[in-house]
Amino acid sequence: MNRVVVVGAGVGGLAAAARLAATGHRVTVYERAGVVGGKLGRYVHHTPAGSFHFDTGPSLLTLPQVFTDLFAATGGGPGPLAPVPLDPIVRHVFPDGTVLDSCADPTAFADRIRAVFGARAADDWRRLWRRAERVWRASWRDILRTGIDSPLALARLGWRVGDLAAIAPGTTLRGLGRRHLRDPRLRMLLDRYATYTGADPRRAPAALVAVPYAELAFGGHYLPGGLGTLADALLARCAALGVTVHTGTPVTAIDAAGGRVHGVRLAGGARVPADVVVANVDALTVYRDLLPTPTRLARLTDRSLGGFVLLLGVRGTTPGLAHHTVFFPPDYDAEFDAVFGDPGRGVPARPAVDPTVFVTVADDPAVRPDGHEAWFVLVNAAPHGRSASAVDWRRPGLASAYADHVLDVLAARGVDVRDRLLFREVRTPADLATATGAPGGAIYGTAGGLLRPPNRGPVRGLFLVGGATHPGGGLPMVTLSAEIVAGQIGAA
Ligand SMILES: Cc1cc2nc3c(=O)[nH]c(=O)nc-3n(C[C@H](O)[C@H](O)[C@H](O)COP(=O)(O)OP(=O)(O)OC[C@H]3O[C@@H](n4cnc5c(N)ncnc54)[C@H](O)[C@@H]3O)c2cc1C
Repeated sequence: MNRVVVVGAGVGGLAAAARLAATGHRVTVYERAGVVGGKLGRYVHHTPAGSFHFDTGPSLLTLPQVFTDLFAATGGGPGPLAPVPLDPIVRHVFPDGTVLDSCADPTAFADRIRAVFGARAADDWRRLWRRAERVWRASWRDILRTGIDSPLALARLGWRVGDLAAIAPGTTLRGLGRRHLRDPRLRMLLDRYATYTGADPRRAPAALVAVPYAELAFGGHYLPGGLGTLADALLARCAALGVTVHTGTPVTAIDAAGGRVHGVRLAGGARVPADVVVANVDALTVYRDLLPTPTRLARLTDRSLGGFVLLLGVRGTTPGLAHHTVFFPPDYDAEFDAVFGDPGRGVPARPAVDPTVFVTVADDPAVRPDGHEAWFVLVNAAPHGRSASAVDWRRPGLASAYADHVLDVLAARGVDVRDRLLFREVRTPADLATATGAPGGAIYGTAGGLLRPPNRGPVRGLFLVGGATHPGGGLPMVTLSAEIVAGQIGAA
């Protein structure tokens, strides 16, 4: 029986803990925050009208099979989750006022595209979809469930010529959209998926076309009570398997010498010996702060986007909103120019003046009082920091002024809630950094791309799980990273 220490109780850490305990390891988890879940955060606001429950992070659950597999592998049965498929998955409101609802049935979605944008646009989408399917299949087979440890390992994959043509190395997601989609609104829809990995579509690889495929082929889901209930389910599964979880216990160092890991050190100085350490903290933190000799992977410095979040208690109900509604701006590129900046040319990142606004309102009585709505509003934002590619979100007055601005933008796009607000809470990337330790509050670690920091650490016995490592961010991907790492470690 190996003694395994997991650093961090995010979804990746808990999933890894469950899988390792299920294969006979003795697993202890140390989490710096007072609660588990990490970026899968929750917030409850009590008012005289009743309580509002918010997910402060994820609002869309994709690839539910990944979670069913996890629960089946760690105790049998499909597990306690009952994901509710959403239709529409996302309501897209374009600058010209047209509205397109996405759904998990490719034929029905193409029909909706034809009804709104015409037959030519529907044909374009079908062609892109066939390509996306090839990319998804190759990614699922060769990348998403396999440890890819080097550019060489990536190059050695047995991709067929057709796979490679579909993946189009060297092409950006924007380039792919330009080639296939003549309607600029469909190109916008495709571009948005780059932001699912915190990347700029003008730089993100075309292979990210697998992201809309996964969402639109396998569906977007909600968990009644909120997505945060996934953290409860994972914690319960860990407890049932005998995993010990210590919250409020930061790990300050990973002990490694002689090319292998020996354990971790806790705040306060206690040493915990371990044969295996699984780090669920950001890869940058592992390499820069926790290992005895800081090493730097060059690609870790390219931070992904953060999110500027408003949590709103809203009186009454709002017509025209779906569970998820995205309001696109007239000039999408101006938003990317702002949130990424162009530090090479001396242009710093800044809050976007006219951003895309993503609104989530669950029709779930468990999360809001009768006759009210709990709104989660998300806007792409540069990570927190003082460099040219970041924004100092702690600058006095900035967060509040930008929150006012986002509400004004929503009003200008036809949804004015300003006079129906019971309360408003703001979460900036700086707040996410404080809550979860994510450097700069970047949601997805490093920005986009196929090759992220590998799951095997630089010393024997050290492994990395979570959104800042392979295969990437998002709930299903971090859960797959746990599966990969459990496979690499093997049974006790
Ligand atoms: C606003 C927002 C919206 C999102 N929307 C979606 C969505 O709709 N769908 C989706 O699938 N994903 C979404 N995501 C992404 C998703 O939340 C993350 O990819 C995922 O939750 C990250 O899990 P993780 O395993 O990487 O761990 P994290 O959540 O990063 O957790 C790491 C844990 O490690 C702990 N930790 C850090 N340092 C230490 C230390 N030194 N010692 C001990 N513990 C430590 C942290 O406190 C934290 O609990 C969203 C995220 C955000 C923030």
